[in-house]
Amino acid sequence: MKNIYVLGGGIGGVEAAIALTKQFKKDKNYKIHLISNRPFLYIYPISIWIPVGKRTFDDVIMNIQQIADIHGFNFIQEEVKEIKASENKIITDKGEHSYDYSIVALGGTKLRPKGIEHTLSICGSPEEALKIQERFFELIEKGEGTIACGFGGNPKDPTAVRGGPVFEVLFNFDTYLRDKGIRDKFNLIFFSPSQEAGKRLGEAGLKKLQKLFQDKNIQPVLGKKIKQFEEDGIVFEDDSKVNADLILFTPGLNGHPVLKNSDLPLTEAGFVKINKFCQVEGYDNCYAIGDCAYFEGPNWRAKQGHIAEVMGRISAKNIKLQEEGKEPTETYEGHLSILCVMDLGRQGVFVYRNDKKAIAPMGVWAHWAKLAWEKYYKLNKLGKAPTLDFEL
Ligand SMILES: Cc1cc2nc3c(=O)[nH]c(=O)nc-3n(C[C@H](O)[C@H](O)[C@H](O)COP(=O)(O)OP(=O)(O)OC[C@H]3O[C@@H](n4cnc5c(N)ncnc54)[C@H](O)[C@@H]3O)c2cc1C
Repeated sequence: MKNIYVLGGGIGGVEAAIALTKQFKKDKNYKIHLISNRPFLYIYPISIWIPVGKRTFDDVIMNIQQIADIHGFNFIQEEVKEIKASENKIITDKGEHSYDYSIVALGGTKLRPKGIEHTLSICGSPEEALKIQERFFELIEKGEGTIACGFGGNPKDPTAVRGGPVFEVLFNFDTYLRDKGIRDKFNLIFFSPSQEAGKRLGEAGLKKLQKLFQDKNIQPVLGKKIKQFEEDGIVFEDDSKVNADLILFTPGLNGHPVLKNSDLPLTEAGFVKINKFCQVEGYDNCYAIGDCAYFEGPNWRAKQGHIAEVMGRISAKNIKLQEEGKEPTETYEGHLSILCVMDLGRQGVFVYRNDKKAIAPMGVWAHWAKLAWEKYYKLNKLGKAPTLDFEL
């Protein structure tokens, strides 16, 4: 019996476990295990609706045990503490697991700039989205306020930045306040140390963003390095200060702490070094996918959910090839693209970028597309809809 372990039950890990069960479904000699610390899969892309109360916590999660039962893999709820790739071992809070192959999909963490405790992030723990909702509704109750939303990068890795969800939450606040007829009582601010925050979306996407800020009366504070966050605002390096009642900030991404405690090769920013087949450098039976991996590509590439899924499927196919005595052939290279629907509340901007084109059309249909994706994603994980590869 050969044991294949997937570590991390997020978007990448769950897809990898499903893909592995498909690759090895008829063979009783293989057992697929998924280890994750949470009993649920948290669907980050739709969590952006929690702050305005359009989704509950339960709407945004899926029970991993249920997914495991449907697809036929073994779910183990444990906390990974260390990966000993040179010994093919995983150490968890409950014991030790030996593997023939592993796929690391533990996601990332965030940098911690000074005063970060005075901010909240939609890209943080699932519980944090609920805290944002609580603070937002407190301000609604009060009847006025200033909300500042921003994001930063990681100077050690240009791909370790997450801006899209920050824009989505900000525009959803705007729509909510307009619907209530109280937008004029609130000041909405977008801040970023970068002068061209959002440029990863491409020329068309960036222009659309700048126009949206103007049309929706959102005050941009761009190109100012952040010194620290305080309880009542953001202090910049030039010692100017923007006061705010609620600060949402998503810092640049950083490698997972478990990886620092393991023997996998890491970049300076703490992400796992992999080759184009998703194999960890130096270990051909260990793969790393999604946010925890460092992957090469065009300078606009980004850590996204659909890339994590593609990498999960690629890894499963390559493991199957290895077991057939062949060399891995599947690579992530041809799949790199930016693909997201930036939701604005009642409309959306459909952002797509690859080597050949960068488009960002906007409309009500894009909002509906995100709603459709939500349904599709859940049905797909429950085995009730086929996997669609969204390549344009
Ligand atoms: C708010 C938000 C909105 C987004 N919107 C989009 C979008 O519209 N489109 C898009 O393509 N991408 C989007 N993304 C990015 C996308 O969600 C990520 O790229 C994707 O989740 C990465 O998947 P992953 O499996 O690598 O990591 P994650 O989804 O973060 O999963 C990591 C998993 O590992 C588990 N874990 C962590 N530590 C341990 C441990 N020590 N032991 C055991 N288990 C552990 C966690 O519980 C989690 O289940 C968004 C991200 C956020 C935060």
